[in-house]
Amino acid sequence: MQAVQLSFSSPGFAEKYHYNGDDLGVTYRPEGCSFRVWAPTAENVILITYPTGHDSAGEYHPMQKSDLGTWHLELPGDLHGTYYNYLVTIDGISAEAVDPYAKACGVNGMRGMVVDLERTNPEGWHQLKTPPLVHFTDAIIYELHIRDFTIDQNSGVTNKGKYLGLTEHGTYSPQKLATGLYHLKELGVTHVQLMPVFDFFTVDESKSANPEYNWGYDPQNFNVPEGSYSTDPYNGAVRIRELKQMIKALKEQGLRVIMDVVYNHTYLSRDSHLNIIVPGYYYRQDAHGNFHNGSGCGNELATERFMVRKLIVDSVCYWAREYKIDGFRFDLMGLFDIATINEIRSRLNEIDPGIIMFGEGWVGGHSPLPDCQKAIKGNVRQLPGTGVFNDDFRDAIKGHVFFHEQPGFVNGATGMEESIKCGIVAATDHDQVDYSQVLYSHFAWAAEPAQSINYNSSHDNLTLWDKLQKTHPGENQETLVAMHKLALAIVLTSQGIPFLHSGSEFLRTKHGNHNSYNAGDRINKIDWQRKARYFHVFRYVQGLILLRKSHPAFRMRTAAEIREQLRFLPMPAGHMVGYTITDAEGDPWRQIVTIFNANQIPKTVSLPGDNWVVVVNKEQAGVLPLEMVNVPYVTVPALSAYILVDAASFEEENGQ
Ligand code: CA
Repeated sequence: MQAVQLSFSSPGFAEKYHYNGDDLGVTYRPEGCSFRVWAPTAENVILITYPTGHDSAGEYHPMQKSDLGTWHLELPGDLHGTYYNYLVTIDGISAEAVDPYAKACGVNGMRGMVVDLERTNPEGWHQLKTPPLVHFTDAIIYELHIRDFTIDQNSGVTNKGKYLGLTEHGTYSPQKLATGLYHLKELGVTHVQLMPVFDFFTVDESKSANPEYNWGYDPQNFNVPEGSYSTDPYNGAVRIRELKQMIKALKEQGLRVIMDVVYNHTYLSRDSHLNIIVPGYYYRQDAHGNFHNGSGCGNELATERFMVRKLIVDSVCYWAREYKIDGFRFDLMGLFDIATINEIRSRLNEIDPGIIMFGEGWVGGHSPLPDCQKAIKGNVRQLPGTGVFNDDFRDAIKGHVFFHEQPGFVNGATGMEESIKCGIVAATDHDQVDYSQVLYSHFAWAAEPAQSINYNSSHDNLTLWDKLQKTHPGENQETLVAMHKLALAIVLTSQGIPFLHSGSEFLRTKHGNHNSYNAGDRINKIDWQRKARYFHVFRYVQGLILLRKSHPAFRMRTAAEIREQLRFLPMPAGHMVGYTITDAEGDPWRQIVTIFNANQIPKTVSLPGDNWVVVVNKEQAGVLPLEMVNVPYVTVPALSAYILVDAASFEEENGQ
């Protein structure tokens, strides 16, 4: 085993076996297909074709040894809809595997399928335009799970829990409020982030009558959509067409689409398709062949190896081109080597430099990849054009993700001010932020604001609402709602890129479940009744989004501009942060004051001037005047955000 491991990294191996062609997998033509698989250690490879994606008997077609460790075969005829696998023989033992480059597959992803992708395109697909994005900091990201979003009996959606559920126009809750696709449009976010939609292992796609539940962070086929969200998981073309229909519907409503991609590990390790085809190559293993487990899920891909990097880069580019995907969120990005992420960035730039890239800048366990090579938060300055989640900000706002009773800024913790300020400047260098006082990172880790993804909560851990309940058991609802709104106001007005967990705009609860990956619909579903129940919170979030989209001051493009234009104000007490933004580029508002008061009592703050229009207060948010302030100070109510605009430029903008 050791000898094989060493040989994979040797220059000799690179020279003999690094294949850089663009024809791995099936190259479809109506008159015949080319099949090519990289299997340098195989003694023999046979292509098996099947009439169906499961159960049927196959036909054997021996492949020929070809260039640089690949095996190749041309088969005549129109093979669209033909299922296939490779039978790979190594050391006299033969095993069947799905093509790592398969673009379609049968039920449960156990066989690849030859697909003429042209036949999977919905009408108008080639003319479909991507909504414009001028700069990454213009993005407002909304994370959702396909099934959760429409499965509720009150969603008003016909194709509940499916890709098609998000194509339905004009769906309503019993209270006649928009749900599904129109809810997203109404909220005003710019990007929808889809929790894993490439084929995962843990939901049995054949059990549609009694469906299983999983988030899908257990990948199986990187280039194939998940079947359980389709109306027919048996026909490999259907899931492709329906995912494209969904993407088209979202884009037609002005939304860009981000995929949450899990390339850091696969559900299976020794028995995975990758490891059957080239044992020992795709994963980080020790000298005894044990799988390293930096993912916490049993294995980790060796992204630094040539053919692994190629597999990932090719896959990302395939999704970007074939499915018109506008962004990628890399699960456990810290398990990637820096060079791989930068290679993806540069390849995506060739397709569309507006494709957004970010990830979890951490790992899920011990990885042998040296820290200096990991695409972790602390190294993000070496990843230009790629961002990471700002966990300093997340935990400072509402408390530690794992220690449930531990509060943050909005729910009473002391000493969070510098971490809040770090988030406000998107973790960039600022002379008024004392990074030695910041929660986890003691330096300005982001070179530019687009590298900081700002959030309170995501699919992982407690929802924001549940977290507030844990830190304040028995607290009255009014106080908890105020904390919740303050947390959202902080994220949606800060520099960098805001990220919302779906349903947080109406106080999403998972009933205290902090790891609901397999907990089923009752816990995970978006409960559309809550939109009516907490409609004032929805309106508040909608107003904050409108404010952000209307005013470039809240989404400055460079760290230099933030340093110059954003200045923190002295505050009269702890549990408060306030700042001015003056003459932000392109913003008609000359001066904006933002104040967060996390105290349980009102606080009076001095203002740099005595003529102000309030656009955000404890109750409402937006771009309309809520109240006037004609003195050089303002009293900010307990647990609230206040945003004031200098009256002169406000009136000028509104033509008065
Ligand atoms: Ca699956």
